[in-house]
Amino acid sequence: MAVDSILSSPLGPPACEKDAKALQFIEEMTRNADSVQENVLAQILTRNAQTEYLQRYNLNGATDRETFKSKIPMVTYEDLQPLIQRIANGDRSPILSAHPVSEFLTSSGTSAGERKLMPTIKEELDRRQLLYSLLMPVMNLYVKGLDKGKGLYFLFIKSETQTPGGLLARPVLTSYYKSDHFKTRPYDPYNVYTSPNEAILCPDSFQSMYTQMLCGLYERKQVLRVGAVFASGLLRAIRFLQLNWQQLAEDIRTGSLNPKVTDPSIRECMTRIVRADPELADFIAKECSKDNWERIITRIWPNTKYLDVIVTGAMAQYIPTLDYYSGGLPKACTMYASSECYFGLNLNPMCKPSEVSYTIMPNMAYFEFLPHEPNSTGSTRDSPPRLVDLADVEIGKEYELVITTYAGLCRYRVGDILRVTGFHNSAPQFQFVRRKNVLLSIDSDKTDEAELQAAVESASCLLREFNTSVVEYTSYADTKTIPGHYVIYWELLGKDSGNSPSDQVLEQCCLAMEESLNSVYRQCRVADNSIGPLEIRVVRNGTFEELMDYAISRGASINQYKVPRCVSFTPIMELLDSRVVSSHFSPSLPQWTPERRRLDSFKVNDDIMG
Ligand code: AMP
Repeated sequence: MAVDSILSSPLGPPACEKDAKALQFIEEMTRNADSVQENVLAQILTRNAQTEYLQRYNLNGATDRETFKSKIPMVTYEDLQPLIQRIANGDRSPILSAHPVSEFLTSSGTSAGERKLMPTIKEELDRRQLLYSLLMPVMNLYVKGLDKGKGLYFLFIKSETQTPGGLLARPVLTSYYKSDHFKTRPYDPYNVYTSPNEAILCPDSFQSMYTQMLCGLYERKQVLRVGAVFASGLLRAIRFLQLNWQQLAEDIRTGSLNPKVTDPSIRECMTRIVRADPELADFIAKECSKDNWERIITRIWPNTKYLDVIVTGAMAQYIPTLDYYSGGLPKACTMYASSECYFGLNLNPMCKPSEVSYTIMPNMAYFEFLPHEPNSTGSTRDSPPRLVDLADVEIGKEYELVITTYAGLCRYRVGDILRVTGFHNSAPQFQFVRRKNVLLSIDSDKTDEAELQAAVESASCLLREFNTSVVEYTSYADTKTIPGHYVIYWELLGKDSGNSPSDQVLEQCCLAMEESLNSVYRQCRVADNSIGPLEIRVVRNGTFEELMDYAISRGASINQYKVPRCVSFTPIMELLDSRVVSSHFSPSLPQWTPERRRLDSFKVNDDIMG
């Protein structure tokens, strides 16, 4: 039964008592979206009334929406950065939040090339946990019997650092996997993973992936769902299997553990899992040695009912590849979240990717929506932008998400553009349209136009001694190979034909571009190996003029034509590729170290693939 058709009753027949409570909670929250929001705002404003930030705006104890909206400005990360920096430097006074900041969550969104630091408080972990606890009860409405097997989830922690003031700074998932909420979670038959905690919590990405894959292979018949956070992560695991199946099969044949896995806690826990199983080893070797890897997921894990990965937003580019490896298994996008705040969940998780809508849970934060008009800044000096409340958004319209959190972000622009597709009770459901200002993305990296421009400028300095300049450029996220990589098309103008840049110089240009890109890009390249070497494709002179002719032939106005800085439309790609005169790859890895002092003395594995 469709979730939306049940208005006054719980969402559907729950699988167990625990699920009944969770579904009841969703019903309560979504039926009373507006009053829950009103209460959330009042709670946040009451508890944070004495903070330096709110004191600035003279709310004088008011906790109502009208006063809040009239006095508190909408802000971006850059506006808050001086305050955040003070917290990072050790100022423990109540600056943004009355509750002590427990740590910083490092977002994949960047500011001045570095991950944004989001202050968080201890109780936010409970709120995130609450949202997680709603996912399986919803899934159980659509997929039966998930308590009869396990989930093969590829989950990883990333490096953490310490701010000058001594607070931890790490990605939100690392914080969650390392928390007691995750590590000492009570047994739940609907949520049993094949990966042991020791493997998930191992900071060395090769050892972690190797162990998680090995466990998944041992339990291949029990696996009912295969997942990772993002589609790119699952494809990375498939690639890992392609590169490492021989060693994995060898371990399974002999009942030993690859000596490259040295982490003592993994080795200790794997003694309970590793056993000699020559039949399984033969099976793995037979399947993996075939040239054709189509449907490899269902061949190896034949009972998989769905893939649990996010394929909305930038991840949509991976849908065809996932379909190829899984024979078109359903892809469940279960939740929508960020470092700043966890937002909501998909109440119809087995729907098609193009139909995914997330229901924002009104208890998570106070949500406002800035009507999104393309090409407008959203406000003029005379008319400040009018933000719409959660319960008042209109179906079909697009909005930018603005949040006020318990941790002290007030009217903060997240940067996501959402479209309202419908309502569940009185809570709106949103399609994720896109993140603002993202030109290129392969994994969790997000490169904007200004960053690409700066990278091209930085690389083109190397061409000066050859009297050569980059006259035009555009880019493309190439995800045909795993890992995907950035392709930058360059049209060059050389004034000195006898002295043109060599292949080696152009390779150095690739590296120079990578060095200039933000730290999330470089971390993906160096620590995660989730992005391949950047490629420059030099196109013949006149190509960008042809590109313009093509756009004009399709109706673009000559006066307004601008070179697209990122392309994906097939005829344009074909035109560009047919004009390529040479292509060059970055010859080495760019520099990357965690932004600040690294806490764990682990080695950054620069080749997770083994
Ligand atoms: P981070 O703060 O690094 O965790 O990144 C959060 C951002 O990831 C969000 O603001 C979105 O832009 C994107 N994101 C998170 N969940 C989803 C989803 N389900 N679909 C599409 N994009 C998502």
